[in-house]
Amino acid sequence: MTFSPATSPQPDALQPDALKPDALQAILQSALAGADLSVEQGLFLLEQRSEAAIAAIQQAADQLRQQLVGDTVTYVINRNINFTNICEQHCSFCAFRRDSGDAGAYWLDWATIRAKTAEAVSIGATEICMQGGLHPQAKIDGSSLAYYLQLIATIKQDFPDLHLHAFSPQEIEFIARQDGLSFEQVITALGDAGLGSMPGTAAEVLDDELRKILCPEKSAPPFG
Ligand code: SF4
Repeated sequence: MTFSPATSPQPDALQPDALKPDALQAILQSALAGADLSVEQGLFLLEQRSEAAIAAIQQAADQLRQQLVGDTVTYVINRNINFTNICEQHCSFCAFRRDSGDAGAYWLDWATIRAKTAEAVSIGATEICMQGGLHPQAKIDGSSLAYYLQLIATIKQDFPDLHLHAFSPQEIEFIARQDGLSFEQVITALGDAGLGSMPGTAAEVLDDELRKILCPEKSAPPFG
């Protein structure tokens, strides 16, 4: 299921309870017929709380999965390359981050990233997953975006068909903030350079109050 602009039922017809079974069934039948869900329809499904409604959603989801892919299970062989653990932020649960100069701090050079990529491909990887700390000095000619574009070029130069799954929304926010760019400009530039998809990580804490305690420097959702 994918989300698309609102169609029907309209938002004001969608209330988060099981007293609207017709609306629920209409959405589920529409999805099973292959239609995309609107944002409002997706929210309506997420807001259902009754056991019957949740069971109906689960059943429809399983039926749709069966229609789309049957019982085939697929997987991807990939390698995570974390290019640096130097990070400007101080999330209290993070055992990864270091300050520059700390024992254990690292920042991979281009040759090492290429070698790790080649090694992964040699044992069957079709994808590289790449994320790193938010390193304020990771710039080329004063540009954070230019550094991240060089990361993509480094992966792609030897293996242009390798899928690159990289850079969390928090990293997008970081690049945009460092360079004074919009999120759209950053994402478009990364996509044009060969970024294939983005991980949904860095959303560890969705409760705003807990977030303020555990990782106050992180941006509010959706850039959690
Ligand atoms: S932003 Fe990421 S790497 Fe940095 S401290 Fe938080 S969890 Fe760790």
